Amino acid sequence: MTEATDHTFYAASARPVAARPALTQEIEADVCVVGGGFAGLWTAHALALRGKDVVLLEADTIANGASGRNGGFVSAGYAAELEKIIARVGLADARALYDLSRKGVESVRALISRDPAAAQMKTGRLHVTRTDDAAGLQAYGEMLSRDFGHELEFWSKGKLRRALSTTRYYQALHEKDAFHINPLMLARLLAEEIEDRGGRIYERSRVIGADINGLRKSVTTAEGRVRMFDVVLAGSAGIGEAFPWLAKTILPIRTHVVVTAPLADEMRAIRFEGAISDMRRAGDYYHLVGERLLWGGRISARRNPPRQLASVMAKDIVSVYPQLQGVPIDYAWSGVMGYAVHWMPQIGMAQPGVWVASAFGGQGLNTTAMAGEVLAAAIAEHDDRWRLFIPFGLVWNGGWAGRAAAQSIYWGMQARDRFEEARARAAERDKAAMRAGHAPGYVAYVGRRVRNRFVRSRFGKAVIPVFGVLRRALRAAAQPVIMLGRALTQLIWWAAGAIGFVAKLAGRGMEQIAAGIAALWRTAAVPAAQRVSARASLIVKREKEAAAVKAAAEPAQETSTAAIADAEPVEAQPQKKAARGKKKKSKDKDEKIEA
Ligand SMILES: Cc1cc2nc3c(=O)[nH]c(=O)nc-3n(C[C@H](O)[C@H](O)[C@H](O)COP(=O)(O)OP(=O)(O)OC[C@H]3O[C@@H](n4cnc5c(N)ncnc54)[C@H](O)[C@@H]3O)c2cc1C
Repeated sequence: MTEATDHTFYAASARPVAARPALTQEIEADVCVVGGGFAGLWTAHALALRGKDVVLLEADTIANGASGRNGGFVSAGYAAELEKIIARVGLADARALYDLSRKGVESVRALISRDPAAAQMKTGRLHVTRTDDAAGLQAYGEMLSRDFGHELEFWSKGKLRRALSTTRYYQALHEKDAFHINPLMLARLLAEEIEDRGGRIYERSRVIGADINGLRKSVTTAEGRVRMFDVVLAGSAGIGEAFPWLAKTILPIRTHVVVTAPLADEMRAIRFEGAISDMRRAGDYYHLVGERLLWGGRISARRNPPRQLASVMAKDIVSVYPQLQGVPIDYAWSGVMGYAVHWMPQIGMAQPGVWVASAFGGQGLNTTAMAGEVLAAAIAEHDDRWRLFIPFGLVWNGGWAGRAAAQSIYWGMQARDRFEEARARAAERDKAAMRAGHAPGYVAYVGRRVRNRFVRSRFGKAVIPVFGVLRRALRAAAQPVIMLGRALTQLIWWAAGAIGFVAKLAGRGMEQIAAGIAALWRTAAVPAAQRVSARASLIVKREKEAAAVKAAAEPAQETSTAAIADAEPVEAQPQKKAARGKKKKSKDKDEKIEA
């Protein structure tokens, strides 16, 4: 597997070109452009078109930096998010800036349409989502159409998954007027056109000193010097020692690209020939180049690319397209982009006659073309569109702390992307599980996965038949026990039924006996007991009365027996009457008790 190299697929597949000379003398020009990436090339091109005498100085060879090693996507917009641009400058200026970025797309199209086959142009760009948010994406598309006049077509999950065989993506916006190209071809085309119009290009001519304060300015290389009226600084993150005030405003950020070997038929997971990128904050971007897949992704503020770049990127590919497992990586390289802290390009005048075109970040193909046009028009025609970029000025990048902060921000963005994606995948998994009659939820999912993995594993395949035999043997051994259990159950059932029946019958007899006893008690025992008790209390009362009468009669007997005899009928009658009355009363009482 190939590791990170300077040898890109573009360079490998391009025809060789003759080296351009280095600057070895002192020369004069109207304008000197420092840097031979797209920013410098487009500016020199637009100046040459306007008849300016332009000299371009490149430290290495034309487009050896980000410009000749990028993903080749040409589409509208900037590296900064639209919402942030609107928040900074308001909707009207944001719209003007967006329109400029679209003009950049058209400038590239116009140039390569002279030979689209050579530039390997393919149209369309899909912006795909890795979280399931159709409504959010549609709303974004509507905002682009309403506020920026740019129509992007919404693709549903079904349509997207018919074009791309992956479950990683949910919906997409199709930017029909975008396209992708071979960027090295474009750079070479530009350089040739500059020279055709009289521009001069010097390679291996790094600018190491500058005198830019007078009306007439100069820059120096190791062996030469250019004197001019205007200078355009388009050296991106590598502008270096001659312009420290500019260098310290640009953060160098890496991103990487690999190109696979030609894909076998079963690996044809991508049936869209345009560019594809996911909408994460630091997402993947890729497209087919002939039979191969060009895949870019990851960003990092580190100075060097990962040591195992090809394997790292291959894993990213397989995480989206598992069908591409094992596909060889033929080319792997890395490139450095320049970013300002506001993520917008630095376009404009730093001081009279000193112009800046840098920090295009990861969206440089359209914006460099636009910047070249804007700056050339400013220099040659006093056009002031560059002023739209004044709010995005030269801001110190924070030095090593800025790099560290950029790296932490990137990690933070990655973590947030992963979290959101995991949530979207869990929701989709749960829906699928419920449709298949399985339990939703992560634990159930892990359980199913473990079981499936085990079933598919070599160990599982070896052990499962043994389990089958064991299960059958156990079942055979358990058969008599099961039958005995069943018989016992039946027996207990019947016994319980019989006991219940008897208890029911017995219960009914007991009820009747109890009712009989209660009736006997009420009608016979209770009245008899009452009568006995009434009779007993009458006898006790009579006894007491008789004793009282006897006690009263004894003293009278002592004084006069006659008197007693006379008195007896008088005394005896009331007593008898009283006794009769009492007898009657007690009879009444008895009757009442009986009643
Ligand atoms: C891997 C990768 C993929 C990308 N994919 C895309 C994409 O698909 N679409 C997109 O729009 N953008 C993409 N970009 C971003 C895009 O490539 C850049 O924004 C763009 O190329 C920047 O152009 P530039 O001219 O500013 O910088 P560069 O291309 O870096 O050019 C700067 C040049 O200046 C020279 N230089 C520096 N200092 C001096 C000096 N003192 N004297 C003389 N010469 C000097 C350097 O040698 C270099 O050649 C990608 C970038 C990378 C790295």
